[in-house]
Amino acid sequence: MPTGSVRLKPRKSRPFYARHPWVLRTAVAKVSRSVQSGDVVDLLNDRGEFVARGIYHATSRIAVRLYTWDPTESLDDAFWLRRLQTAISLRRSLGFLDDQQGACRLVFSEADGLSGLIVDRYGPYLVIQLNAFGMARRIEGLLDLLEDLLQPEGLIVRTDSTMVAAEGLDLAPQTRGTLPEANVTIREHGILYTVDLRRGQKTGFYLDQRDNRLAAASLMRDRRVLDLFCYSGSFGLNAIVHGGARHVIGVDSSNTALAWARTNAELNGVGRIEWRHAHAFRVLDELKASGERFGAVILDPPRFSRGRKSLREALRAYHRINRVALELLEDDGILVTCSCSGTVTAEDFVQMLAGAAEKAGRSVQMLERRGASPDHPVRTSCLENEYLKCILARVT
Ligand code: SAH
Repeated sequence: MPTGSVRLKPRKSRPFYARHPWVLRTAVAKVSRSVQSGDVVDLLNDRGEFVARGIYHATSRIAVRLYTWDPTESLDDAFWLRRLQTAISLRRSLGFLDDQQGACRLVFSEADGLSGLIVDRYGPYLVIQLNAFGMARRIEGLLDLLEDLLQPEGLIVRTDSTMVAAEGLDLAPQTRGTLPEANVTIREHGILYTVDLRRGQKTGFYLDQRDNRLAAASLMRDRRVLDLFCYSGSFGLNAIVHGGARHVIGVDSSNTALAWARTNAELNGVGRIEWRHAHAFRVLDELKASGERFGAVILDPPRFSRGRKSLREALRAYHRINRVALELLEDDGILVTCSCSGTVTAEDFVQMLAGAAEKAGRSVQMLERRGASPDHPVRTSCLENEYLKCILARVT
C-alpha cells in the first residue's frame, strides 16, 4: 500500500484522469513528508481525492509514474505479474513467440502500463532495459516474474545511457542464467542475424523496424539499392532476399555494425551486397557529385533530435539527407525514409519531405506511411511513445 501521497495543483489533474502516466514536477503542489524516490504514492487532485497510484521520484522531471487508476489495486508482485502477462499475451497472439529463434519486444514501457520497463526477447534470451528508478528498485522481483513466465536461458539488464542521469540510475550490468560468450543468432522473416546483447545498439537489434523491412523489400525488385545508416544490414538483406533487389550498397559509420552486417550476409548466403564504412552525409554528396543513380534509397538515420530545442536542427538534417537522396534516385525510384525522433511529428516529417521534394525538383508519391511493428504498440493516453515514422514513396 502507498507510503504517502502527491497532491496536484488546481486545474492540473485532467491529463491523469485521461490516464497519462507521467506527472511532471511542475504539476505537483505537495508531497507528503516521508516519501522517498521509489516509494508507492497515491496521486490526489487539489481537493485531496484519489486519481491514480504510482511511484515517486524526488529529483526526476517526472515526479510520479502512474501504474493504476483503480484505488483497490496495490502495486505488489501479483500486480506486476498481471501486467507482464497481459503484455506477453499480446505478442503471443500476434505470433511473435512462434519462432524459437525469433526476436521481439515483449514489454514496451507505458504502452504496456509498465512505465520505465522494456523487455526484448532474442530467441531464448531476454534483454531488459530500465528507464526508471522505480523499476530499477524493483528489478529483482521483476526478473523473478519474467523467469517464471518465460523460462529464459539467460537474461541481461541494460540501462539507456540518456536515462541514467535523468532518473539517477546507478546500476552495475546484471545478468542471470547463462548468456552466450559471443553473439546470439536470431531469425526475422526467415533471415538470420547475429546480435550482440551486451554491446549492440538499442537492446541489440532495431526490432521496431521489423515489418517496415518487409514492406520496403516488396518495392525493390531488380533495383540497385542504397541503404544508408544500415547498422547490421537488415533493410538491405530483406531487399535482396524478399524483394529481389539487384544490388545493395550498405553504409554505416560504425565498423562494429558493419562487421555484424558482413556476418549477416554470410549467414544467409547473400552476395550482391557491398558494405561501406563512411559518414552518410559525405557519401550522399560524393555520390551526387559523381553522377551515380539508384533505383531505391533507404534512409534510417539515428535520432537527430532529443528535445524541443533541437527540433529545427533535426528537421534541417532530415531535409538535407532526403533532398540529396531524392536527387540520387532514377525516374520511378523508391524512397524509404524514416525518423525515430519522437519530437518530430508525423506531420512535421511529411512537411520536411515535401520541402525536400520541392528543392530537389522531384514528385514524391507516398505509398505507405508506417510506424513501428505491433509489438511496439502506442497507447492513446501516451502518444509520446509514438516515435517511429517510415514513409515508402515512389519518386518521379
Ligand atoms: N536500419 C537499421 C538501423 C539504423 S540505426 C536497422 O534496421 O537495423 C542508425 C545507424 O546509423 C546506426 O547503425 C549508426 O551507427 C549509424 N550512423 C550514425 N551516424 C551516422 C553517420 N553520420 N553516417 C553513417 N551512419 C551513421
